[in-house]
Amino acid sequence: MNKLRVIILKPSKYALNGYVDRYRWGFMPNSTVPHLRSMTPDSFRGAPVEVLTVDEYVHTDLDYLALLRRELGHRTLLAIVGVQSHQLHRALDLAAYAHQNGCLTVIGGPHPMTCDTSMLQGRGVSFALAEAELVWLDILEDALAGQLQPVYGQKQRWQRELDSPVISPPNKKDMQRYVIPMLGLYPARGCPFTCNYCSVIKIAGRRVRSQSVETTIKSLRAAKAAGIKMIMFTSDNFNKYAQAEELLNAMIDEKLDLKFFVQCDTQIARQEKLVELSSRAGCFEIFVGVESFNRNTLLAAKKGQNHPELYKDIVDLCQTYGISSHFSNIIGFPKDTASSIKCHIKTLCELSPLQASFYILCPIPGTEQYSEFLCAGLIAERNLDRFDGTVLTWNHPDLSRQELTSLLFRCY
Ligand code: SF4
Repeated sequence: MNKLRVIILKPSKYALNGYVDRYRWGFMPNSTVPHLRSMTPDSFRGAPVEVLTVDEYVHTDLDYLALLRRELGHRTLLAIVGVQSHQLHRALDLAAYAHQNGCLTVIGGPHPMTCDTSMLQGRGVSFALAEAELVWLDILEDALAGQLQPVYGQKQRWQRELDSPVISPPNKKDMQRYVIPMLGLYPARGCPFTCNYCSVIKIAGRRVRSQSVETTIKSLRAAKAAGIKMIMFTSDNFNKYAQAEELLNAMIDEKLDLKFFVQCDTQIARQEKLVELSSRAGCFEIFVGVESFNRNTLLAAKKGQNHPELYKDIVDLCQTYGISSHFSNIIGFPKDTASSIKCHIKTLCELSPLQASFYILCPIPGTEQYSEFLCAGLIAERNLDRFDGTVLTWNHPDLSRQELTSLLFRCY
């Protein structure tokens, strides 16, 4: 039977100057690409399957564009994955190019899962509206038959029980494109909270679903065997993952000796046992979305679980157990002013987490906040490329785009 060639591509986005954003080195590999790669069998319904992967952010050479062309006598499926709103235009352009060259093309990820793409459907490019575990084999089946459906996963967005694959890490050549040889793994998905600006709860739901600890351990073993030195547990709230302790104990028992990074919510301040265990298992950094030091701002954003008076405890706990504390901050909430943001920076410096990152509040399409701002006529930016958390996209009552941009630089 003829071969099926599958190209799994993470698209970049168009930068402010209109060119595709590309970097000589990336920070770490995208997590979705190896995930989908690992879900793709070597042969399917008797046909050999060849899989190629591309992370457009780090492909400074343009050779990969030659792959977006049907090989004579074979089927070629282009899966454009992990597409966020600011990457949609680039994804559509790549899809149109591949479609014109005879490829079957499907676009999946946060934007198609959470936003209305009906105006784009039925024009030769397919859309996946559900988690890959629910639709990927159907897509492969249809690709082999030579015809994709316009839409996949309309009825159900999430898998009820997470049944994820053991992850095969990227090869050495691909890893050389990144500064840090770090692999992202998802032991769990979903978050119980209701922050109004958050897309995670729209993409993965509010029930925390986890894969088996055994699957995660197998992925860790495979990563270690492939020379990976660090792991990022990409689950949003590692401290809300019910089997976290079981996984950490298994990592200690196996003497895996892999350094890892986790994201936690601020309630980690009261979970000393978990911090201590994480440290023994190899955790080198805890990333926490503190966002603001103003309790009223947090309540307005429906982030009542954050109590700024406990932030110092997180820094102290991390320090006690030799873990780097990384605070993520958002500037440009509706009640923020230039002076309140300067105050925020001062407080942050006093708390002194080891690392900090900053974003400008971005009403992400598909979130509760975006709908509210849209209804109130506040969305000012019409170009989706700009919805990446680096510029102001709405009419802030007190701050201009230039002011917020310069405050963002001041934060760093
Ligand atoms: S805690 Fe984080 S993942 Fe959960 S809803 Fe809030 S922003 Fe989203």
